[in-house]
Amino acid sequence: MGVVRRRSGSFVLKVNPILCDGFGHCHELAPELVDVDEWGYPIVATEPVPLSNSGVLQSARYAVRGCPRQALSIERSNDTEKPQ
Ligand code: SF4
Repeated sequence: MGVVRRRSGSFVLKVNPILCDGFGHCHELAPELVDVDEWGYPIVATEPVPLSNSGVLQSARYAVRGCPRQALSIERSNDTEKPQ
């Protein structure tokens, strides 16, 4: 009730290149995470973003919702440290 917990972990935005039509809406919706190549296809940042970075997470959600081909997804990882 009213308790906001800080989320640990991180996320990356993933694109399914088979579904993507390359119109680049995701770049407009999440410019922090998505660049576009010369043909308009997305180049998505591969560096994990902390879930606590709510601004970027919100942009990623907008991009997922705004993608007309449902080609985007948010992949979460609870461990920021990878096992060796
Ligand atoms: S919005 Fe979706 S379909 Fe359009 S370029 Fe981005 S990933 Fe591809």
